[in-house]
Amino acid sequence: MPWMRSAVSGIRALCSSMLDVFFPVPQLDGERRLLEAPFCERCGHPYWGQIQGRFRCSNCGGRACHYVAARAQYLNRGVVRETIHAFKYRREYWLRRTLGEWVVEGFERHYGAERFDAIVPVPLHPRRLGWRGFNQAEELAKALSRRSGLPVIRALRRLKDTAAQVAMGRRERRSNVRGAFGLAGSGTYRDTRILLVDDVLTTGSTIDECARQLRRAGAMSVHAITVARG
Ligand SMILES: [Zn+2]
Repeated sequence: MPWMRSAVSGIRALCSSMLDVFFPVPQLDGERRLLEAPFCERCGHPYWGQIQGRFRCSNCGGRACHYVAARAQYLNRGVVRETIHAFKYRREYWLRRTLGEWVVEGFERHYGAERFDAIVPVPLHPRRLGWRGFNQAEELAKALSRRSGLPVIRALRRLKDTAAQVAMGRRERRSNVRGAFGLAGSGTYRDTRILLVDDVLTTGSTIDECARQLRRAGAMSVHAITVARG
């Protein structure tokens, strides 16, 4: 039926133009801003101004935390944000190379002097993985593994398909991810120095919850690296 075909192609065109509005194809040569000091020594929260030496932000200062440090290559804005969105929501799989290079650069810049034993990607819920076809964090972990020679271990699994956290505050994010992760197997990570990998870090709630699970399984330390810091 011709009318049905034209209706379907009309809907496709509409969906594609909506994608272009919300998640435009990024101009990769656009300006990117590095995450540079001063930032919180724990969560990497950036500051502007004259702050010297090591310090913790008000959120990290008086709170127990399960990871040692979280760092990113860039601030999550402009072309960096667009590239991550296009990778995840437009499923532009070819962007894994660019994002992989960026996370490797961040790793070398922030953790050049650190030693790790394994790379662990933040897992996706199977439902979301089924839709996207790949786990963006795992693609980044593979790029880091190729550069560093460290093994990628799928140590964690996502138990809850948590609501999108974009519009949530710090406290909501923390309760949203509480119990959202578990260990993927019965493995122990005793005396293992783990590098956790994700695409974006905003408040650190996801990283902290993942680190909590890994520490429970015996990990000696957990550091995190992401492409971007919100
Ligand atoms: Zn902090």
